[in-house]
Amino acid sequence: IHDSKRVFKIASIPGDGIGTEITSAAIEVLQKLAFIEGKFSFEFNHFDWSSENYVKRGWYMPEDGMDQLKKNDAIYFGAVGWPNVPDHISLWGLILPIRNSLNQYVNVRPTRILRGITPPLAKCGPKDLDWVIVRENSEGEYAGHGGTTHGHSSHAVATEVSIFTRVGIERIMRFAFETAKSRPRRKLTMVTKSNAQRHGMVLWDSVFAEVAKEYPDVQWDKMLVDAMTVRMTLQPQTLDTIVATNLHADILSDLAAALSGSIGIAPSSNLDPTRQNPSMFEPIHGSAPDIAGKGIANPVGAFWSAAEMVRWLGMEEAADALMKAIENVTEAGIRTKDLHGSSDTKAVTGAVCKELESVL
Ligand code: ATP
Ligand code: MG
Repeated sequence: IHDSKRVFKIASIPGDGIGTEITSAAIEVLQKLAFIEGKFSFEFNHFDWSSENYVKRGWYMPEDGMDQLKKNDAIYFGAVGWPNVPDHISLWGLILPIRNSLNQYVNVRPTRILRGITPPLAKCGPKDLDWVIVRENSEGEYAGHGGTTHGHSSHAVATEVSIFTRVGIERIMRFAFETAKSRPRRKLTMVTKSNAQRHGMVLWDSVFAEVAKEYPDVQWDKMLVDAMTVRMTLQPQTLDTIVATNLHADILSDLAAALSGSIGIAPSSNLDPTRQNPSMFEPIHGSAPDIAGKGIANPVGAFWSAAEMVRWLGMEEAADALMKAIENVTEAGIRTKDLHGSSDTKAVTGAVCKELESVL
């Protein structure tokens, strides 16, 4: 058969701090994966959009930045944020506009205890924490709506308005039910704070109830976000797929990552389910200024995110192989300090590349 090797164009945005370290590690692993697998290859387009360059140039993204991103099949993102720029400037300079402009209205955050890793809670078994958190990624508390009067004076007043739309809620609910339906336990937990927040959260409740009728084969329940943190910690095995708002799911997924061993492990996928725009893949952690430049960042969250990207691009087997290689390495005890190991980023990256040779 004639060689029909597919070339995937990937926009890479390493960003700040350890974002740059884990992005180059992930690219190394992805190149190795493609090389060994042989049926596809990656062409990376690098974008130097970072806080350091923002300070020099006054912008995070150029005017035609979105158009440049749209020419790619997917986006690989490291982390953005640095102490020299207020966090709300860096977030609104780069990551939030990308999510919004490219219709990435779902953020999928899986959690699992990888082979060989001992979770921090003594009673948590290796299969007790197999979750997918479906985060609403386009509206809610991060809508950016609001204002300030009287500056930051002694009588300053500020509003931070959450926006919930029927269209926005319905599409995230449907995605969550489809996710739950595709998993063995067919179980969905919907999280709100509808006892105290009586408008948007109540709309979440009612749209959820409507969409649930279309999925009689999915078992569901509802939780208030505060009680949810307790349930995740004390009864993790009772959960499977979880759907929550932009803010709630952001917080719950940090907790989920910590419960599974480290924030340095957890992946995320910012998806445009319509596939009209490229989706974006990034570890959930930030730029970690406290450990940046030392070469000790855990690259596992970056590798897992890369595996999710490979899966989204349609290469299931290659994605499974990458996950297997990652877990062979965690199981062999080649781990960074956050996982109580003594290996650095380079050693973990080299070990995963080496494992790829045996799993493929
Ligand atoms: P953001 O606002 O972007 O979510 P953050 O302020 O919540 O960022 P992180 O940058 O994620 O914070 O860092 C939180 C803590 O976790 C820091 O102590 C950091 O060193 C640690 N950490 C984050 N990512 C990793 C990683 N990949 N490997 C090891 N430690 C990490
Ligand atoms: Mg954070």
